[in-house]
Amino acid sequence: MTASVMPTYGRIDIAFERGEGAYLYDTEGGKYLDFATGLAVLCLGHSHPHLVAEIQRQAATLMHTSNLYRIQGQERLADRLVANSFADTVFFCNSGAEANECAIKMARRYHHTNGNPERFRVITFDNCFHGRTLATIAATGGEKVLDGFGPKVDGFDHVAVGDMDALQAAIGPHTAAIMIEPIQAEGGVMMIEDAVMQQLRQVCDDNGLLLIIDEVQTGMGRTGRLLAHEWSGVTPDIVTLGKGIGGGFPVGACMATSDAAKGMVPGTHGSTYGGNPLAMAAGNAVLDVVLGDGFMAEVERIGDLLRSRLEDLCRRNDSVIEDVRGKGLLLGIKCRVPNMDMVTAMRGRGVLVPPAGDNVMRMLPPLNIEENHVDEAISALEDVCRELGQ
Ligand SMILES: *Cc1c(COP(=O)(O)O)cnc(C)c1O
Repeated sequence: MTASVMPTYGRIDIAFERGEGAYLYDTEGGKYLDFATGLAVLCLGHSHPHLVAEIQRQAATLMHTSNLYRIQGQERLADRLVANSFADTVFFCNSGAEANECAIKMARRYHHTNGNPERFRVITFDNCFHGRTLATIAATGGEKVLDGFGPKVDGFDHVAVGDMDALQAAIGPHTAAIMIEPIQAEGGVMMIEDAVMQQLRQVCDDNGLLLIIDEVQTGMGRTGRLLAHEWSGVTPDIVTLGKGIGGGFPVGACMATSDAAKGMVPGTHGSTYGGNPLAMAAGNAVLDVVLGDGFMAEVERIGDLLRSRLEDLCRRNDSVIEDVRGKGLLLGIKCRVPNMDMVTAMRGRGVLVPPAGDNVMRMLPPLNIEENHVDEAISALEDVCRELGQ
């Protein structure tokens, strides 16, 4: 591995050269079932023909202009996201952290526009993950992301999920918003209960706060709904998207109600690449598939199948696996052995899976997997449990 690449990642010594559907092929001729999908990015798997064709077509037609001009693909993707969600308006950018930056700026600007510029603080939750920029590491909190990067950006207060007394105590005259993930994916696939989500909505309404839901990992059909918060019945003010929205092409989005976004007038925010024609071709192509007839129902069905197979395996291997969590195709296996041992052993059997916090191994397959892929992953995990259970 070359020292020319800044070593901010501890990398595994495998280089992939080709991907097809749910499979990756490395430079040594190895074949892997990809249940990591570049961390919930490749929602249609690798080299999906419609996504590839749309990117190729757009690249050969018009790659980039600038947001100084109208961008047809951007208008189309925004219209479609609005038609299929709570939102009235969408800002496009290039990543999840950038989408969250937009959400945080929007919340501050909302209160500023209302004549309350002192309301700038955002309440976030223990165990959350919101990105790696200066503001989003402050939102995330914890030594792991903050160490050595001080002074910390001011304006974030952390409380434990579900501790409503602590939440009430954290709300003051400076509070602007509450920001939460529907499932704390990096944190260990911790589900936020519907009742907690509903209470947060109520607390926001009672105190004039905006509810920001970070759907960078849970969005774009991952849980069997376009946006995971839909399961709770709650209507947010702002939702952020990233990862799966471009299916492998870098795209981020910040969706909002027109009220929450009322301060975002010309000149207040921008991104050179954000929403460029090539990115929007990718976004529209992903949405063509995800919004297609029966697609999300199938995510729900295959997710339930994978989950029940995992639960069955967990019952038979309770010295290795403690429990199974998550929803749709965002699943977590809480390990009794070190999670990295499981991840490594799975890779040894040709299945790529990512770890998560709380000693969890995640499964984030493409959303269009079939039963044979489930069988293959389960059979690898059976072997791994046998090996690690001894
Ligand atoms: C991955 C992730 C982010 C950060 O996205 P980037 O594209 O890496 O900036 C933010 N929030 C959540 C919930 C994520 O899973």
